[in-house]
Amino acid sequence: METIKDTIICSICTEISTLPVHGVCCETAKSLQPACLICVRQYCDLNNPPHLRRAKTIKSWSGCGCDLNLNNFSSKDFYRHTFELDKIRNIFGPSKCPHESCGQVFETSAELRRHLNGTVKSSDNFKNCLEAVCKCKHCNLVGKRKIIEGIHYYDEHALIYCDVCKKNVNWSMIKEHYKMHEKQLDNLNYCIKNNILKENSGYVNFTIHKIN
Ligand SMILES: [Zn+2]
Ligand SMILES: [Zn+2]
Ligand SMILES: [Zn+2]
Ligand SMILES: [Zn+2]
Ligand SMILES: [Zn+2]
Repeated sequence: METIKDTIICSICTEISTLPVHGVCCETAKSLQPACLICVRQYCDLNNPPHLRRAKTIKSWSGCGCDLNLNNFSSKDFYRHTFELDKIRNIFGPSKCPHESCGQVFETSAELRRHLNGTVKSSDNFKNCLEAVCKCKHCNLVGKRKIIEGIHYYDEHALIYCDVCKKNVNWSMIKEHYKMHEKQLDNLNYCIKNNILKENSGYVNFTIHKIN
């Protein structure tokens, strides 16, 4: 049992790996000690975009001697999930979400992986992790899921089609937009009642035709 346990010890934090991953820099790295997903992401500064990382290169955590290019954007250039270790890892108890303010606990590595990469199934007990870093599906912005799917989504991408003026209106502006049309209608109503309609009278969204 101890020998089996040794195969899943993280080479960075020296605890039992949570979501063990392997380096992809060379063939040797694939057979060396795994590391926790989160340890590797921190070690390589992957939660920052390439231009904001602390360094340009870093020695591989695997101990193979390779230099990793920190200008690479994709996580696939740094590590590969070691799915074949899932079964072994599950024997050693549940896996806890590495984001402190989340901290949910999962029976299996697979369930935690889905929680972090945003692919939970309807049968899962937990939702996608709001603390995990993800990419916006609509504009490629990278950030915590709670920002990307929260305020960023509503400010930038949540558009509602206005049937009155046939334009897309931002979700956060829809009440103001409605009030604008309401005011325009009030004005029109006032003009009709007071018989002060003029052709091309300058109302932004109405072309007013002469009423005989
Ligand atoms: Zn670790
Ligand atoms: Zn290597
Ligand atoms: Zn979480
Ligand atoms: Zn976006
Ligand atoms: Zn409108």
